[in-house]
Amino acid sequence: MDKQALYDAAYSTINHKKLRKFGESGHVACALETATGAIYTGICIDLPCSIGICAEQAAIAEMIKHNETQIRQIVAVHEDGNILPPCGRCREFIAQIDDRNADTIVLLPSMRGVPLRQLLPERWDALWD
Ligand SMILES: [Zn+2]
Repeated sequence: MDKQALYDAAYSTINHKKLRKFGESGHVACALETATGAIYTGICIDLPCSIGICAEQAAIAEMIKHNETQIRQIVAVHEDGNILPPCGRCREFIAQIDDRNADTIVLLPSMRGVPLRQLLPERWDALWD
């Protein structure tokens, strides 16, 4: 799948909703393509007290539900259309799901794709050193 199609899959998943007091969801969406070519999507959930999950984590949960762990490429898109680089927790999350995800292509603003290993140098666990 080309980068634009993956971006489109994420953007079309955006569904911003107000939840209970101060809570919201779906203003960021993620799409990932697995090594088998399957596409999984997810949305963020933000609640008070910093409780919530990133869109990447929701998409990864959907992927694992379907018995896959190896991610070929991944992108997160804000409702304003901008690509959001994954937060530090999500970078680590992707890495720990499957060793092969060191080579996951993470789409960054301007559709620049970089392997996850470049976003996580100096591994604490020597996972891919
Ligand atoms: Zn995150």
